[in-house]
Amino acid sequence: MWIDVYTAVTTKAGRYVQGGGCASVGVAGLVQGGGFGSFSKRYGLAAASLLQVEIVTADGVVRTVNASREPDLFWALKGGGGGSFGVVTKVTLQTHDLPEHFGWAEFTVKASSREAYRRLVERLVDHYAENLFNPHWGEQLVFHEDEVHVSMVCQGLDDGRAKSVWAPFIDWIRASPSDFTFNDEPRIGAGPARRWWDLKANPGLVPDPRAGAATQHGWWRGDGDQASLFLHGYESQWLPATLLEPAQRGQLAGALMEAAQFQAVELHVNKGLAGAPAEVNEQARQCAMNPEVADAFALMIVAAGGPPPFAGPRSRRLT
Ligand SMILES: Cc1cc2nc3c(=O)[nH]c(=O)nc-3n(C[C@H](O)[C@H](O)[C@H](O)COP(=O)(O)OP(=O)(O)OC[C@H]3O[C@@H](n4cnc5c(N)ncnc54)[C@H](O)[C@@H]3O)c2cc1C
Repeated sequence: MWIDVYTAVTTKAGRYVQGGGCASVGVAGLVQGGGFGSFSKRYGLAAASLLQVEIVTADGVVRTVNASREPDLFWALKGGGGGSFGVVTKVTLQTHDLPEHFGWAEFTVKASSREAYRRLVERLVDHYAENLFNPHWGEQLVFHEDEVHVSMVCQGLDDGRAKSVWAPFIDWIRASPSDFTFNDEPRIGAGPARRWWDLKANPGLVPDPRAGAATQHGWWRGDGDQASLFLHGYESQWLPATLLEPAQRGQLAGALMEAAQFQAVELHVNKGLAGAPAEVNEQARQCAMNPEVADAFALMIVAAGGPPPFAGPRSRRLT
């Protein structure tokens, strides 16, 4: 699981490795599916950091493949889907220098009218395009009914810089108390990156309470409902970065606002690689993944789910 890798690479060794956002997801399946983490806008796809794979193919042969040894198979493993080409028994992943800080911005704003909601969504789209559309910021903007929920993280910004990026937007909200209220007050800040995945140091992580669980195992507070979630429907679409051009933003904001009346619309900005460094985009194009990923600023997800229709996992809920 990624939490084991993060513990070894970041907590113990002080380096960064590109994995998944959810700590309990498995390494082999995520890497073979492409794989995004919270900071992919800076470090790219998990598949792009694959240096070498040991795989047992269907003919029973153990193969060690990389960019020069069986390059077609190696390319296929970088996004071609878990289990498609054999059983992966070892992966070698690139690591990076660890930034000094990782940070967060979390709050919910409610608008008092449709007209106020339109202004709120337009303002947030502008704020994203002008201040957050860069390698620092990842994770989610969620639009639903008359609310926007910001749940973002950042890398490479200290506490003061993380707060100052959001200050103009927060001030704008507070300046119109009859139009907007914070359902969840802003929590914005940054801390030492090395402690991000350290359960003993980061209160955002929930330790796995089950008997015998490894001490480093846990998940992000709020992720617990994903365990045994039953999805009734799931649609996703990459949104091209051209939608952030000034002439297009009104159309984007209007569509988000209309769609939010029916269903929560999540923009996962770390799952579109426009705005990333050029080499990150180029590496993504060398993966077995739809090249649209490199030109999209976000993956839009609309989904509906609930508890599973059978007893068991929920009665053993982990959180
Ligand atoms: C709660 C949750 C959170 C998620 N969060 C993220 C996220 O933050 N970012 C992201 O990009 N994706 C995320 N995903 C999607 C996730 O990347 C995929 O579900 C991925 O396939 C999980 O990999 P796994 O090893 O845990 O998978 P499994 O479900 O065990 O396997 C998925 C597929 O990979 C195959 N497979 C697994 N191990 C191997 C192996 N060693 N060799 C060959 N084939 C193998 C399996 O046969 C299967 O076909 C999430 C999924 C869930 C359920």
